[in-house]
Amino acid sequence: MKIIGLTGGIGSGKSTVANMFKLFHVPIFIADDVSKMLLGTNEVVIAAVKDLLGEHSYTTNLDNELIPDKKYIASKVFKDVDLLKGLNAILHPAVRTYFDDWLLKQDAPYIIYEAAILFESGGHKRCDAVLLITTNIEERVNRVMQRDQTSREEVEARLSNQWSDIERLNLSDFVIINNNLEITKTYVSIMHDVLLNS
Ligand code: ATP
Repeated sequence: MKIIGLTGGIGSGKSTVANMFKLFHVPIFIADDVSKMLLGTNEVVIAAVKDLLGEHSYTTNLDNELIPDKKYIASKVFKDVDLLKGLNAILHPAVRTYFDDWLLKQDAPYIIYEAAILFESGGHKRCDAVLLITTNIEERVNRVMQRDQTSREEVEARLSNQWSDIERLNLSDFVIINNNLEITKTYVSIMHDVLLNS
């Protein structure tokens, strides 16, 4: 089964494109969602994160369940590159292990592995091909500000921890320029045929 990496900068339209592939019944693995899930549920991850960032990384809800304090964690790692690297060194292997189990359960000619930081995390090394989603940076910032009801500064801070499109382009096999949703749908349909026949 082929593994197709799907990546792109923040707000480029990865999830939008992944949803279009889903219409063709392509199994989709969303690394960011799995990473968030493991941060809250995986005991090895929880212990390692507390070790790295302190007990305040987790709080309890009204039912006394442990939940990650995402604001606290973000405040720690976004101003300290070493802590961000440390957090990634905990999460990336856990996501990989989860992915390996998930992959065994799939039955399809190819699957999509969606990750915003596919190259930064080294995830592209597992992929047979990588599809890059792109659109101009101003459009991406505006889309995310609107989607997340957040400020330009916040989006630009998240952007600064990611590679540029030029860097991504060098390692990608296919590119979809996601400006117009109807045209993107056509590209996805063409890509699906290419992947089925390659
Ligand atoms: P993130 O990296 O933050 O997870 P993403 O790359 O998955 O983002 P999406 O969530 O798919 O990006 O898209 C960002 C926002 O832009 C969403 O609100 C989506 O509906 C919108 N969007 C995506 N593609 C287009 C497009 N071609 N035209 C207009 N809006 C779009």
